[in-house]
Amino acid sequence: MDFLTSDKLYGLIQGAYVIAGICFIAALAGLSKHETARRGNQAGIVGMAIALVATILLALREQQLIAEIEELTALVGDDENLGRGVWITLLLILVPIAIGAVIGAQKAKTVEMTGMPELIALLHSFVGLAAVLVGFNTYLAAPQELDAAHGVEIFLGVFIGAVTFTGSIVANLKLSAKMKSAPVVLPARHWLNLAVIVISLVLMIWFMNSAGGSEFIGAVPLIVMTALALFLGFHLVAAIGGGDMPVVVSMLNSYSGWAAAAAGFMLGNNLLIIVGALVGSSGAILSYIMCKAMNRSFVSVIAGGFGSDGGSTGEARDYGEHREVMADEAADILAGASTVVITPGYGMAVAQAQYPVAELTRKLQEKGVEVRFGIHPVAGRLPGHMNVLLAEAKVPYDIVLEMDEINDDLPNTDVVLVIGANDTVNPAAIEEPDSPIAGMPVLEVWNAKEVIIFKRSMATGYAGVQNPLFFKENSRMLFGDAKDRVEAILKALD
Ligand code: NDP
Repeated sequence: MDFLTSDKLYGLIQGAYVIAGICFIAALAGLSKHETARRGNQAGIVGMAIALVATILLALREQQLIAEIEELTALVGDDENLGRGVWITLLLILVPIAIGAVIGAQKAKTVEMTGMPELIALLHSFVGLAAVLVGFNTYLAAPQELDAAHGVEIFLGVFIGAVTFTGSIVANLKLSAKMKSAPVVLPARHWLNLAVIVISLVLMIWFMNSAGGSEFIGAVPLIVMTALALFLGFHLVAAIGGGDMPVVVSMLNSYSGWAAAAAGFMLGNNLLIIVGALVGSSGAILSYIMCKAMNRSFVSVIAGGFGSDGGSTGEARDYGEHREVMADEAADILAGASTVVITPGYGMAVAQAQYPVAELTRKLQEKGVEVRFGIHPVAGRLPGHMNVLLAEAKVPYDIVLEMDEINDDLPNTDVVLVIGANDTVNPAAIEEPDSPIAGMPVLEVWNAKEVIIFKRSMATGYAGVQNPLFFKENSRMLFGDAKDRVEAILKALD
């Protein structure tokens, strides 16, 4: 047991934390490119393994030190008791880790790619809840030791954690379609948000002043603020319309990082502070990139849709009649084309159509057709969702282009295949200023000579907005499951 309390071990733990921190930075760097993403993930796994072992050793060391102090002051028994305390602590750490690992591994194995976004939102909510629990635990363990710096850490940690917790739960419900994606708008909603923030500030002053008072008096402002912050998290995310959800998801990712960093401050754990700050800042950068891609103001989205009228989901308009096409006709059109652009969306993920789409790409290329992909930054339900699917089906990276790279080429394109995309190819964003998605840049597929849209019905996309593209002169609907329809085209091309 002497080794546990030695300075040598403490030095090793701090060294391990530095290595883990470097691994996490390498992970983020690796994840920024397709080619290095796998290596980035591996660096993250190694970093987390090192961090876990080091943190368990640190906890055991602290337990041992406390036990030794207690023994010195003759509070508890003998040497044997000391050793037993360490084993009990180890058990208390390893059993929950083992239970969590089994549940996590099972979930990771069974989750569908389309279920990833809501799972990620749920995981963010756990980080928020953890920060709230750590905050309460830190306060209740020693309310009489509350000083100014510690008080701010606890108060802010619980506040950010509570907002992240309910915000992420609402995001999970919206992404899994258990709650409608249209904004929930309460009367005077911005005043409500402002009131929550102002009251929380007053409560913080009360909390800070509670030090030295009767033992748990500070728990009152802490509990009231937690209830208000839980409401704020719910309200901020509920007020965001479906089309703006990508920004909310990355923003909650950022919040969960700050919540973890706050927990790191409360626990005095440097690695948690570093990891939290990395997640928090990278999430904030991603949110900013998403806002720019969608032409949204960052402030208005984080303030719960400030500046939008919030309630509109686009009135039903009469766009006329749509036209249909069959798979064998579509095959003939493709065989006669010299340039084809494929714009995938969430429906491709649902149908798992990426493999036949990759096969179709190869077949058309063999026939001398130039095939490229146009990817909207918020296609699917996760940043990079379509890129992951296409990489999985081994579509070469060099024919997968961003929206900005392909939009100018669309007027010279013979055929665009819209595979399960809807909001990301909706001309209402450009043509209808009153549309809830107005101002969002989209793939301007209607500029191509012919557009074939693969979907199962005339239903709207995630933002709940009707799509005038389906009724344009040069558009034709190919109804059915996208995978099934692409396979039918492949058969017809043989
Ligand atoms: P949409 O969600 O707008 O539309 C997907 C379309 O796919 C639907 O209209 C649906 O029509 C069709 N579809 C579903 N299943 C199938 C199937 N099996 N076969 C064929 N078609 C199918 O997709 P987009 O990718 O264009 O847009 C993404 C939306 O998600 C945007 O509004 C974005 O803001 C939002 N979002 C994006 C996030 C991100 O990070 N990327 C995160 C959160 C939200 P039908 O039912 O008729 O088949």
